[in-house]
Amino acid sequence: MFSKSKIGIVGAGLVGSLWAVILKRRGYDVTLFEKRSDIRKHSSDEARSINLIITSRGLNGLAEAQLLDEAISLCVPIHGRMIHSRSGELQYQPYGNSDECNFSISRSALNRFLISSAEKAGVKIQFDYLLEDINFESKTLHFFQKSQTFQYDYLFGTDGTGSLVRKNLCAKYPDKFLERTDWLDADYKELFLPANHLGQYQVEKNALHIWPRGSHMMMALANLDGSFTVTMYMPQNKFSELQSSHEIDQLFSQDFSDAIALMPDYASDFISNPQGKLGTVRCSKWTFEDSVILMGDAAHGIVPFFGQGMNSGFEDCLNFLKILNENQNDFSKTVTNFEFVQKPNAEAIADMALENWIEMRDKVGDPKFLLRKKIEALLEKEFPDIYKSRYAMVTYTLIPYYITQRVGLIQDKILNSLISEVSSVEEVSLEKAKHLLHLELVPFIKSHNLNFDTDTLVSKMKARNFF
Ligand SMILES: Cc1cc2nc3c(=O)[nH]c(=O)nc-3n(C[C@H](O)[C@H](O)[C@H](O)COP(=O)(O)OP(=O)(O)OC[C@H]3O[C@@H](n4cnc5c(N)ncnc54)[C@H](O)[C@@H]3O)c2cc1C
Repeated sequence: MFSKSKIGIVGAGLVGSLWAVILKRRGYDVTLFEKRSDIRKHSSDEARSINLIITSRGLNGLAEAQLLDEAISLCVPIHGRMIHSRSGELQYQPYGNSDECNFSISRSALNRFLISSAEKAGVKIQFDYLLEDINFESKTLHFFQKSQTFQYDYLFGTDGTGSLVRKNLCAKYPDKFLERTDWLDADYKELFLPANHLGQYQVEKNALHIWPRGSHMMMALANLDGSFTVTMYMPQNKFSELQSSHEIDQLFSQDFSDAIALMPDYASDFISNPQGKLGTVRCSKWTFEDSVILMGDAAHGIVPFFGQGMNSGFEDCLNFLKILNENQNDFSKTVTNFEFVQKPNAEAIADMALENWIEMRDKVGDPKFLLRKKIEALLEKEFPDIYKSRYAMVTYTLIPYYITQRVGLIQDKILNSLISEVSSVEEVSLEKAKHLLHLELVPFIKSHNLNFDTDTLVSKMKARNFF
């Protein structure tokens, strides 16, 4: 019986902690190993942690673990993008219809919450356990400076982009496991936009703020305490040109002048905060026999520009569970099917996230792009049963990522045709749009039995006045 089996999970980050809760609630014997000491005991400043966007797949993962309500209470709802031009003008672009929104949360607050939830659920958590080696034949884990080993029946590697579980598989079975990390030529740095002296938000709290500047961009997401976490994304060579406060002041005066008054410590934050790398992790296989499974960033780390890294990791948990249910808890069948089902999805969202890097840093302020978005909004309004933007499908539905990517390509063709004939949204012929949609898109929708309705959990949040 599977529930008597010993499950080891390496990495108590977001995916590993959530997965531990889900498996424990189903009665399995779960031990979670984490190389860091217990983050709940550190007096770290949560407001300065990365902020993440939780969308439909993340909401469903939290709901599966019975943690949705508590997690949502840690979030700020986000309804759209606020674009800041060089001259400081603001332009608001709502994400979807009024039923749709995302949720911003501090990564460290979510991680603390998930670790506490795992502990409450009865998961054994071993902090300060740095995985060093795995003997896949004897199914034994070895940890740095620990004499104690751990024997597993099933092992989940949720140890992030630099995964030791993945590296062990690649080193020991090089004919089967090939890994590659494609580093982006841009890095990121966290900055901080504090609350005003009354503890209030200085800019609109329910929006993702973007300062798109071509080669680089700045983004801000609200925290619960009136502050914002700001992230600067920039090519490495540009970062290295900015060493002194004077050079940073010049950058801000030129590109982010409206943020200067809002962010008193931007220059010192810029100098002292670490520069993070961004990459796409690809691994030829995610599973070894029926006993080892990579999940989350360990299997498919992606760049953050679609806000789907954690969300896709939570979807790994959901899909593994769904297949386990379909196979009456037969682990062997589940492992193979999981990789078969979920790998194409991870590959699709990795590519779409890279495309979004160009869109967010470069295009969101471009008039042609804005016209395209307006036409897209018109199609969504006029033809809601057959048109939902790729962004909305990824963010508000559970339609598999690889299907959303294919729908997006068909939609691109239709939008290209419509935009080529007009200079304003008012000029778009709805007759022509309808004809193109029925010719190009509807056959795909029918053959894949697609339902574009917003996921019920996203809608439920609305009903409960979260936004
Ligand atoms: C700037 C930025 C913005 C982002 N924004 C979003 C967003 O808006 N939405 C979204 O969904 N995603 C976002 N992401 C991505 C998201 O943070 C990751 O996808 C998510 O954290 C992956 O979770 P994970 O559990 O797989 O890995 P991690 O969270 O990295 O956890 C891995 C864990 O394994 C532990 N570990 C590592 N090695 C070992 C070892 N040898 N032994 C034991 N333990 C080990 C680590 O200490 C860590 O606790 C963003 C990422 C960045 C960098």
